[in-house]
Amino acid sequence: MSQIIDGKLVASHIRKELKNEAESLLKLTGKKPGLVAILVGDNSASKIYVNSKSKACNEVGFHSVIKIMENDTTEEDLLKVIKEFNADDDIDGILVQLPLPEQIDEDKIIEAISPEKDVDGFHPISFGNLVIGKETFYPCTPFGIMELLKYYKIDTKGKHVVVVGRSNIVGKPIANMLVQKKDGANAIVTICHTAAPDIAFYTKQADILIAAVGKANLITKDMVKDGVVVIDVGINRIEDSNSAKGYKVVGDVDFENVKEKASFITPVPGGVGPMTIAMLLTNTLKSFKQKMNIK
Ligand code: NAP
Repeated sequence: MSQIIDGKLVASHIRKELKNEAESLLKLTGKKPGLVAILVGDNSASKIYVNSKSKACNEVGFHSVIKIMENDTTEEDLLKVIKEFNADDDIDGILVQLPLPEQIDEDKIIEAISPEKDVDGFHPISFGNLVIGKETFYPCTPFGIMELLKYYKIDTKGKHVVVVGRSNIVGKPIANMLVQKKDGANAIVTICHTAAPDIAFYTKQADILIAAVGKANLITKDMVKDGVVVIDVGINRIEDSNSAKGYKVVGDVDFENVKEKASFITPVPGGVGPMTIAMLLTNTLKSFKQKMNIK
């Protein structure tokens, strides 16, 4: 019987702590941590993400700005806006909601964000620091996974972690965080991707399996060993005639069957997802404290 890793619960604890700290900091400094979310275009999923990030900001007592720009915004215009927010003392974190319209080079935009305000942790300087084990802004989803492992006291030292997926926002950073010679990490890490002839060969060896692929039910019961810890990052919509919306959201793991073998498992929704915004707020507070020189 597996234990469910409750990301909603852990995220709510983190948000409560952030709210308390923001209140104390407001008394101390008269200022609030500030986050700007920049949305270019009218992608409906992006709008939902940006609004929920802004709502979460307000709930913990941060200053929140949403900057909406037209779909035909030029790269130059977006760079100008980023430059303004880089210089804005009320803003501690800048997030540009991805994906961007095709006329804009995402890498250029990410690199234009000041590394001091890079609360998404996507800037090459943040990522470089992560790889060499220096203190930095960790990308929010991998950071959330690390917090879940810590909260449930899941030992990673010397454990074989298999990560399926090598994106810059999940697979590569989580693999690099877990391999660090540090408490809460120190794991043996394998990364799988589409060039693996048979991912089951690797997933069966995992003490901790992290699936960050975007393919519903890719990981099945026969692909894991007994006692595995399963972290499911995937968010996939599948048809569901029983739901009023006509679909439901599932992860990359066949949850119902895999949970029979797992020692711990994250559900989707309610596992990794809620942690991502909690860690974005954590990074924003960290940036604010760095600016104010507060330990
Ligand atoms: P991504 O950029 O599309 O990367 C997917 C990775 O999976 C790629 O490295 C790809 O390999 C690999 N892959 C695809 N099919 C595979 C297969 N059959 N076998 C082995 N590897 C395979 O995706 P992402 O941005 O990392 O996101 C992954 C999932 O996590 C998505 O469902 C996304 O919605 C979700 N997500 C959730 C959160 C959250 O807050 N919970 C945050 C971010 C992402 P190649 O490199 O070889 O193409």
